[in-house]
Amino acid sequence: MDRKKVPSQPEAIWKEKDMSSGRTVDAMVIILRTNGCSWARKGGCTMCGYASASMSGITAGDLMGQLDHAVKIYRNEPFVKIYTSGSFLDENEIPADMRKAILDIFRDAERILFESRPEYINEDVLRTLPKNVSIALGIESSDHDVLAKSIKKGFTPEDSRNAGIMIRKAGLKVRAYLLLKPLYLSERDAIEDAISSIMFADEFSDEISINPVNVQKFTPIERVWKKGDYRPPWIWSLIEAMRRCAGKVNARLMSSPSGGGTQRGVHNCGGCDRKALDAVERFSFSQNIKDLDTDACRCRDTWLEVMRSEVLLGTSSDVQRAIDNDLAIGK
Ligand code: SF4
Ligand SMILES: [Zn+2]
Repeated sequence: MDRKKVPSQPEAIWKEKDMSSGRTVDAMVIILRTNGCSWARKGGCTMCGYASASMSGITAGDLMGQLDHAVKIYRNEPFVKIYTSGSFLDENEIPADMRKAILDIFRDAERILFESRPEYINEDVLRTLPKNVSIALGIESSDHDVLAKSIKKGFTPEDSRNAGIMIRKAGLKVRAYLLLKPLYLSERDAIEDAISSIMFADEFSDEISINPVNVQKFTPIERVWKKGDYRPPWIWSLIEAMRRCAGKVNARLMSSPSGGGTQRGVHNCGGCDRKALDAVERFSFSQNIKDLDTDACRCRDTWLEVMRSEVLLGTSSDVQRAIDNDLAIGK
């Protein structure tokens, strides 16, 4: 049987570095297999692959099995991140008693992070959570239209803001996730959207993580990308957004792009991607703007040119791909 489909085993577990109490620490990441995001069942967000991947019929016993598996791998890492491909606080995914059991297992961890949509966050739930909890909010964008039309998120920026304020009032921490370059945004608009979203999230966030779009299979964004009408953001855009906000926000600015350097993820020309992504990683830990410096590459001029062309043509399509195709046809 495909291990990926075994309900009593977590979808994935790995170790990585992250920050806790201002220092770099070891973190264990657990992706629990649950009945999936309630919003994904209603169609979900345009960039989210969980809508097609969600399972059903996961029982409390399955969740317990997944936990047992995680506990065997746990080596007292100070930071534990528990993702569910949805909302940890949605009782259809994780029943309340199971939630308590999970948080209890990791009670000695310095920090536990999980993600939730704002509709599951209220004062009663927050009162039951231990103080080592950080809640990740998938805010994505502070722009109403972007959130409603490009992402189809199903909640407003104010819903996230209210949840964030409530979480911090309860003495817990907030990590905000923002989406760099949602569908239909040009490269330049995507940078501006990320910057205003960072400024918006700073009021109620301890950390702001920028997630550049990674085109996942069977998603609306993949359909547009396949037609050549969407290009994932450039790493230059990610660096630009971080550079323009560095030193202006109280929250820690970070990005750990999935699919970075691939055609489906945030990428440059291919030749400079690794170094540019290393710069993003360095900055994410240090917050030192100098760490965003990376080797010059000729593709930076292409990036600037693409942004100028998008404005001239009034399009958010993949301009560079269209030009490359035309050149190939003309050969
Ligand atoms: S991005 Fe989050 S909220 Fe949207 S469908 Fe996916 S799991 Fe649900
Ligand atoms: Zn390059």
